[in-house]
Amino acid sequence: MTDTVDINYGFQLPEELLMLREQVRRFMREEVKPIEDKLPYDAIGCSKADKIHLKGIAEDMGLTGLTIPAEYGGNPVSALTRVIIAEESAKCRLGAYAPALGAFGGGPPNIIWGGTEAQIEKYGIPCIEGKKRAFVAITEPTGGSDPRNNITTRAVKKGDRWVLNGRKMWITAAAGADYGVVFARSDDGREGEPPQITAFIVEPDFPGITFNEIGVIRALSPYEIVLENCEVPEENVLGRVGYGFAVAQSWLVDARIPYAAGCIGIAQEALDMACGWANQRPTRGGLLKDKQAIQWMIADSEVELQAARLLVYDAASKADAGEIVKVDASVCKLYGTETAGRVVDRAIQIFGGMGVAKEMPLERWYRELRIKRIGEGPSEVHRMVIARNKLRNTEGGVYFS
Ligand SMILES: Cc1cc2nc3c(=O)[nH]c(=O)nc-3n(C[C@H](O)[C@H](O)[C@H](O)COP(=O)(O)OP(=O)(O)OC[C@H]3O[C@@H](n4cnc5c(N)ncnc54)[C@H](O)[C@@H]3O)c2cc1C
Repeated sequence: MTDTVDINYGFQLPEELLMLREQVRRFMREEVKPIEDKLPYDAIGCSKADKIHLKGIAEDMGLTGLTIPAEYGGNPVSALTRVIIAEESAKCRLGAYAPALGAFGGGPPNIIWGGTEAQIEKYGIPCIEGKKRAFVAITEPTGGSDPRNNITTRAVKKGDRWVLNGRKMWITAAAGADYGVVFARSDDGREGEPPQITAFIVEPDFPGITFNEIGVIRALSPYEIVLENCEVPEENVLGRVGYGFAVAQSWLVDARIPYAAGCIGIAQEALDMACGWANQRPTRGGLLKDKQAIQWMIADSEVELQAARLLVYDAASKADAGEIVKVDASVCKLYGTETAGRVVDRAIQIFGGMGVAKEMPLERWYRELRIKRIGEGPSEVHRMVIARNKLRNTEGGVYFS
């Protein structure tokens, strides 16, 4: 890992966040990197002992439980704090899907906190304690870009149970999880309305559920989940029957700004590595750093990363001020993930053959960042959200009549 010189054009982080950023950087360099260096190249996590060790240090630093409500022993922080941590903790070889090797993470999907006390007790608290792990299953073979219309998994009430039939696709970390939140279309008794979406907490040993691994571009596989007459007890409805889409939306929107921040962190590290290499790599007639073609790649990457970071900090600050940030979150997700993809691509180009060698993290980041433009809503869907909002709020400017 290389040192970065921070130039936060137009955005002055408060002193305590600058200190926090330094603290996370040190943790990544001094604690996470030595553990990562011992792991096989395509590892998706570290050993249990190392995880406990890292978590212990993170806990001492006050950096755990960040998305857990205080009443359940969490340490909820501002959105801006979350993005600073997301950005810095992604700066590691396993960064895209295992930031800080999970030291700051853990905890259930945030939507569990909207559940009943019994659900929180059974499914929320054990995740905080590291005893349970969960998945969230929205996407189906019919398409994930428009879940409101494309969810076809059916839930039919039979006595005190709901019977689920359908298929989910691309579900991260589904196999081996202790439960998942599965979204299905249910009859909710509202007169004259088509079946709406409901969220169900499903356990892998409920009858009628199977998991099939789907190999993809990254090391961590997602899964297909097949539900065949899968019986879910009535008390496992999460939230209100027929109001599950709002639950899904809150899960998705909440994650988008830190999601973009993590991608920016990875890309910043890639750019810094490329600068280090350009500064020392001899080539015909001098060093790589003296070639304008290389300088332009570095300049474009620097400018785009600064812009992406400002967007993320601005959106997080608005969220902290209580503003609705649905569109801002789409702007961050779109620009952050696309910028990160371009920057890592350029970094690989600057390294040449070394850029695609497995001993370097760049090719892994390149593959994993490719997914980031599809997961959590593909770029096109975020462009649609941004364009619709712009069109709705724009009358034509001064010279339009
Ligand atoms: C590795 C991985 C992990 C995932 N993990 C999870 C998970 O844990 N839980 C979960 O629920 N889902 C998960 N997903 C699913 C992910 O959210 C979906 O892949 C994504 O929402 C896109 O859905 P789709 O793949 O069905 O593509 P489709 O919806 O079929 O879209 C295909 C392409 O069409 C284009 N497109 C779609 N709509 C429009 C439009 N309106 N205008 C213009 N172009 C459009 C886009 O380019 C899009 O990429 C994961 C996906 C991957 C690849």
